[in-house]
Amino acid sequence: MSDSLLADAGRRLDAARPEARISEEALARLSQPRSSLKVSIPVRMDNGTLKVFPGYRVRHNSTRGPAKGGIRFHPRVDMDETITLAYWMTFKTAIMDLPFGGGKGGVTVDPKTLSMAELERLSRGYVAAVADAIGPDTDIPAPDVATNELVMGWMADEYAKIHRRSVPAVITGKPLALGGIPGRSSATSDGALHVIRELGATLTGGAEEPRVAIQGFGNAGAQLAQSLADDNYRVVAVSDSSAAVHDPEGLDITALRKHKSETGSLADPPSGSELDDPEELLILEVELLVPAALEGAIHEGNADRIQARTIVEVANGPVTSAADEILDEAGVKVVPDILANAGGVTVSWYEWVQNRQGDRWTEATVRSRLRERMVNQTQQVRALSREREVPLRTAAWILALERLGEAMDATGNERTFRSGSS
Ligand code: GLU
Repeated sequence: MSDSLLADAGRRLDAARPEARISEEALARLSQPRSSLKVSIPVRMDNGTLKVFPGYRVRHNSTRGPAKGGIRFHPRVDMDETITLAYWMTFKTAIMDLPFGGGKGGVTVDPKTLSMAELERLSRGYVAAVADAIGPDTDIPAPDVATNELVMGWMADEYAKIHRRSVPAVITGKPLALGGIPGRSSATSDGALHVIRELGATLTGGAEEPRVAIQGFGNAGAQLAQSLADDNYRVVAVSDSSAAVHDPEGLDITALRKHKSETGSLADPPSGSELDDPEELLILEVELLVPAALEGAIHEGNADRIQARTIVEVANGPVTSAADEILDEAGVKVVPDILANAGGVTVSWYEWVQNRQGDRWTEATVRSRLRERMVNQTQQVRALSREREVPLRTAAWILALERLGEAMDATGNERTFRSGSS
């Protein structure tokens, strides 16, 4: 990518801005994060040496409620990426109409190089470093790339130790036994499935057994592969950071998931064969292409070779704004990340509510409330896209911008003060 992620993200706002009813001052507030914290986390390694890891926590906006967003552990994490991801969370929580703002955190580390004990010390060290910046009413972390329930459990426990009381609502995506909620770990893929079902034939052209390629076989990608295979889609390709696996007749997803959990990767797969170049997955002739890994997978350099009818963004920011223009011209539909992957943060909201109520929600309640919200917000985005004749992404940004603008203007704007009205 030629320029910063944040600059690229700003172009989404620019595309929606002429259509959105939002004041200039609200836009000015959204252009900068509320706070951005850089910390360093010293970790004692198993061999006795000390390593210091850079960590980040960004609160982009809190107008509609406390900041909300995950923590990722990845070598690519830096301040620019964390601010961008926090910025996207502001729009994601607004589009889902959740009482949250946007935040994000991360540590620059390759977690695959750490032992379990080192990973625990790093997770606890992160919370110790950002403890003053997070809290159930200020900024609520959750899992993101390469963090999971176990990590959230350590983090909640560390926060409880620091505050000398249990504060389960400070973090979501916890293990069930520590106040987690049933259905959180499948929430991102469940949410994406509801969006895909709701948009239905417009995405697949009514193909009988629509073909799907999924880039990324982590929590969201692997579960979505399974759900789509169960839903009569033909999953013809999946990939992770080590291999891309292809079978035009359809892959055995159950076998691949088992293989990945046993060996840690998709290499030497029990179903399908490995593509020589994993990038080929992106240009296969399929109805749905699902990038579910990292930002920037589809860019200016490969967008014109995409043969998919529709791209469903399960990762955050997998399509750059330059690629968007190329895809739009070629008639490739894009279901935007802030809608398609919003199931995770939606169930995080339920977990936070559950913790604050001191209650236990059932899986059936979580599932039906998730479906209802995903379907409802998808319908609103689709209606706006038709009404204003704009792509789904622009419609999603307009809807989010208008909700954010309304909240910001509710405390008064320039007009209120000029007119002196009460
Ligand atoms: N990391 C997820 C996301 O990007 C979930 C965030 C959350 O649950 O707060 O949406």
